[in-house]
Amino acid sequence: MDEEPEKAKRWEGGYERTWEVLREDESGSLKATVEEILFQSKRKRVADSHGQVRLGMMRHLYVVVDCSRSMDDQDLKPNRLTSTLKLLEVFIDEYFDQNPISQVGFITTMNKRAEKLTDLAGNPQTHIAALKKAVGTVCAGEPSLYNALSLALRTLKHMPGHTSREILIILSSLTTCDPTSIYDIIKSLKSLKVRVSVIGLSAEVRVCTMLTKETGGSYHIILDEGHFRELLLLHVKPPPVSATSECSLIRMGFPKHTVGPFNDREAQPSFSMSQLESSSCPTLSVSGYLCPQCQAKYSVLPVECKVCGLTLVSAPHLARSFHHLFPLKTFTESRSVEEEGFCQACQAKLKDQIVYRCPSCHSVFCVECDLFIHDSLHCCPCCIHNQSAP
Ligand SMILES: [Zn+2]
Ligand SMILES: [Zn+2]
Ligand SMILES: [Zn+2]
Repeated sequence: MDEEPEKAKRWEGGYERTWEVLREDESGSLKATVEEILFQSKRKRVADSHGQVRLGMMRHLYVVVDCSRSMDDQDLKPNRLTSTLKLLEVFIDEYFDQNPISQVGFITTMNKRAEKLTDLAGNPQTHIAALKKAVGTVCAGEPSLYNALSLALRTLKHMPGHTSREILIILSSLTTCDPTSIYDIIKSLKSLKVRVSVIGLSAEVRVCTMLTKETGGSYHIILDEGHFRELLLLHVKPPPVSATSECSLIRMGFPKHTVGPFNDREAQPSFSMSQLESSSCPTLSVSGYLCPQCQAKYSVLPVECKVCGLTLVSAPHLARSFHHLFPLKTFTESRSVEEEGFCQACQAKLKDQIVYRCPSCHSVFCVECDLFIHDSLHCCPCCIHNQSAP
């Protein structure tokens, strides 16, 4: 009973504050309020997403890009397609940074058909080159969700059980043209544990709601370009794996970057395997990463060896995705009291503010530092300092 009036007061307080922001900003824009709400929701996301769950380290993700007529719309600048492809380039960089042993592939859909833009592969450069090339695509006709999904499924169903199978659809059109009932493919996606998520550029479509709900994915509609970017980057973080999924050990190679000449045979310049595959003219080089198993040369990591199939990664890269396995605990939120005057990270004054306390070392942080620690740093700076101190 004691808590009731307190809660009511806080609710009223929050309400009044929002109103004040509204009134203060009489220039007519609601920007301040919107920003505050977005900030709160971001903070909430951090709080929600850092429980102790098992996450999939090896991911297989197909991104379906709608290239139908509606992608010509100019509500995103210069048009929806160009804006989407640009954001996807950023996405690819982030994706391989956080998921170095995962793979991605792109599928486009237009004119009632679906085509592979790139195959599932772990090399960011090939994807980025393909995305750059796709900017010139002439958007036409209607997309086909069914064809795109079945094209992705054809490859994904052969992926081993300990990896995640995911499809992310960027959908602009409000209609889809399918050869047969889409509910059939939703059933097979569900039985093969393929998670389908959709980012809508126009409005909510019922079939997507169904599709994402049945397969355990997420469905969001963008507000503007900034929001679009944020929604895309949500898919960078690996999804939690279900308790029933298999576990397995994977062989990995950690090749060193070597610069010749270092012995008689390999002193000669040679082509790297990844360049030989792409049709653009390959260049000779003396340095590269050599597969420890078969000595095939690669210019970039991570990559799956074309000769022996070994996954080649760099150790620092793998270490960076380590935090997915042991996520940092959520900091507890409280009102600051007199004695804890400064944020332990940026030294800002914390008087009369909400502060965030690390449950392990009890250091306090301001909200900006809390977001930075959970989103980028992935470890508590004070805990690390305490560990390294003698
Ligand atoms: Zn090899
Ligand atoms: Zn701070
Ligand atoms: Zn700490």
